[in-house]
Amino acid sequence: MSLNTKAIAKNAYFISKHRGRVTARVRVPGGHLEARHLEIIKEIAERCGNGTVHLTARQAFAIPGIPAEKIPEVRKLLAPYIREAEVGMGVNLPDPEGGFPVPLPPNVLACIGSRDCVFGNIDTAELAQKIERTFYPGSTLLKIGVAGCANDCAKVHMQDVGIIGMVEPLYDPARCIGCEACVKNCRRAASGALRAENYKVARDDLRCLGCGECVLKCPTGAWSRGAKYYRLVIGGRTGRKHPRAARTFLEWAGEEAVIQVIANILAYIEKHRDKTLPKEHLGYIIDRTGYGVFKQEVLAGVNLGPRAKVAKYINFGGYAYDKGVQLT
Ligand code: SF4
Ligand code: SF4
Ligand code: SF4
Repeated sequence: MSLNTKAIAKNAYFISKHRGRVTARVRVPGGHLEARHLEIIKEIAERCGNGTVHLTARQAFAIPGIPAEKIPEVRKLLAPYIREAEVGMGVNLPDPEGGFPVPLPPNVLACIGSRDCVFGNIDTAELAQKIERTFYPGSTLLKIGVAGCANDCAKVHMQDVGIIGMVEPLYDPARCIGCEACVKNCRRAASGALRAENYKVARDDLRCLGCGECVLKCPTGAWSRGAKYYRLVIGGRTGRKHPRAARTFLEWAGEEAVIQVIANILAYIEKHRDKTLPKEHLGYIIDRTGYGVFKQEVLAGVNLGPRAKVAKYINFGGYAYDKGVQLT
């Protein structure tokens, strides 16, 4: 049987190394789903695949070993999931029975965030789904990750765009007993932004990461969580060609500003990407246009708010392969 590989790939299936077989990929926006949806994944794997399921690094499901002629059956089984997990969240997919409509749908990945983690400053899955609602199913390659705090369990520094939840720590001196637990912990586990002063605590705003650790450490509730903000890191990437970690672009930005910036990044990619290549990561495009052009275009028309800070320059560092270098 000859496969129409282009049509299959457009429907978000991978062509397998096993002749005549494909792997179905199922997106999980924000990495969070209803437990009952696992029944659907199980049924597809057992009825149409080889009985196994692979969890991808982007928090999606890959269901391998599906004979290509069973794709219509997979679509039928998958439709309720797409209706509930994508359309139900507000994603614009008018034909759930048709499966996923674009070939490369990297879902926004996220750590569990404030839904369950004591460190979480933001509801990561909610933000991930909001971003998906705005941008999926566009076909521009943009890998986005969301971490609930600076611990970055989601490894967003390896994404094209990483979003990290921040919080403004609010200090009530009347409740402070001067125990210095927050000062010691900030020095040990964060950035050393706190110092003891006359049996009270002072915070260096420039050093503060907005991680919220001080709130967790204070035995008297003298620190509390104030407004939520976001740090945006850009240009991270993996792959064989010059992998590198993302660098900070914005700090203390609001949620709406982050969504607008991501919309502008998509436009920037479409304007500047190398159209001779099937895809190109954001970091390579920034390397070509320069950070100044990137900054100007993606901040155009964005109200960052009074608290936001923008990186003046970025030196991405990382490494380039040099065949003359001997590794020992
Ligand atoms: S990044 Fe922060 S919020 Fe997310 S799981 Fe890790 S510690 Fe929790
Ligand atoms: S939010 Fe984090 S970095 Fe800022 S003062 Fe508290 S512990 Fe230190
Ligand atoms: S941990 Fe709380 S009580 Fe102790 S110094 Fe810090 S703010 Fe004051």
